[in-house]
Amino acid sequence: MISNIKHQIKNIAIKITSPMFVLKLIKIKGKLSEFLKINPPFTLYIDVSNCALKCTLCPNGDNYPFEGPGRGKMSLTLFKRIVEKFVEENITVKLFAIGNWGEAMLNPEIHQIIHYAKTRSGFMRKGGKISVNTTLNNLPNPSDFLKSGVNEVRITISGMTQAIYSKYHKGGDIERVKSNILKLVEIRDSEKINYLNLKLVFLNFTYNKKDSELAEEFCRKHKLIFTPVDSRLLCVDCFIYFKNEKEKMSKMYNQFVDLLTLTSKSTTIDADNVEFCNLRWNYVTVNFDGQLFPCCGVFEKKHFLGSLFDFKIKDIPKIESKICKICATTPMNNSRDLIISKNPKVISG
Ligand code: SF4
Ligand code: SF4
Repeated sequence: MISNIKHQIKNIAIKITSPMFVLKLIKIKGKLSEFLKINPPFTLYIDVSNCALKCTLCPNGDNYPFEGPGRGKMSLTLFKRIVEKFVEENITVKLFAIGNWGEAMLNPEIHQIIHYAKTRSGFMRKGGKISVNTTLNNLPNPSDFLKSGVNEVRITISGMTQAIYSKYHKGGDIERVKSNILKLVEIRDSEKINYLNLKLVFLNFTYNKKDSELAEEFCRKHKLIFTPVDSRLLCVDCFIYFKNEKEKMSKMYNQFVDLLTLTSKSTTIDADNVEFCNLRWNYVTVNFDGQLFPCCGVFEKKHFLGSLFDFKIKDIPKIESKICKICATTPMNNSRDLIISKNPKVISG
């Protein structure tokens, strides 16, 4: 009897944790939300400026022949229009992340943008967070920036010495970055901004282990959150390019990552399930000029879906995009995290 009950519990556990069950739940949740007119809280990614660096594995660098999302800055006026659209359509934002393919700190109005997002009632969900991704090579008005209400600053580095840092972060200056970090630390401590997380994201490459230890020590000393991340190819476009130009790109990648391990962990997603991609359902990604990306993983201009103002926000996940179909059949090392997949296929070589 007891073993029978145990067996039944085990069966239920297997069912409710299976990808198909999760898929069904998402479908039901979507339909129910539509029926009840409840809108889901989205993560909103916005680039407020282009980037000035040329990181090696990034499509902004010199190793890909892509036409990127362009160069420019989002005006405060355009940002306010975006916020008003969310408020009018009754969509609350759970996470507002600034900086995807661009450097947030190059926008001189960054603190006004954050302040507006933080204080406009009906825009952020209760308990929602504002996070900024930056290299911190620039830091205009550090005090205004930290007092804007930003909850998290994610500073990405790849070395603690210039020789190591500049191998990947081309055009960056680690001494300037460290000095800017210390300015933020000082303001955080003197103003007692307790709700602020300062995160140091350290990109692990094959050559920078010693600098990773130095970074960890630096974080301990200055009360930063040390976040080591295993490096990988950065965009959907990059994976597609790699698939077609394996030989040419392998030589370059091998200088940074263990390509064999990376590709052995790569998976493809089932093309039938691509409409359930998590990034389509729960994220909205906007370029500095208001153009919509299919998701934060896509880089090239030719994949823009149109202006954010051309659509109701709740209809954005339903927009068909050619790149999603190509993405579904392209091996990627992080697809398990991004995609709710029925049957990820592990590839080799
Ligand atoms: S990885 Fe980030 S900082 Fe480097 S070029 Fe790309 S967007 Fe800029
Ligand atoms: S299927 Fe691929 S390209 Fe489409 S939204 Fe998902 S991750 Fe992005």
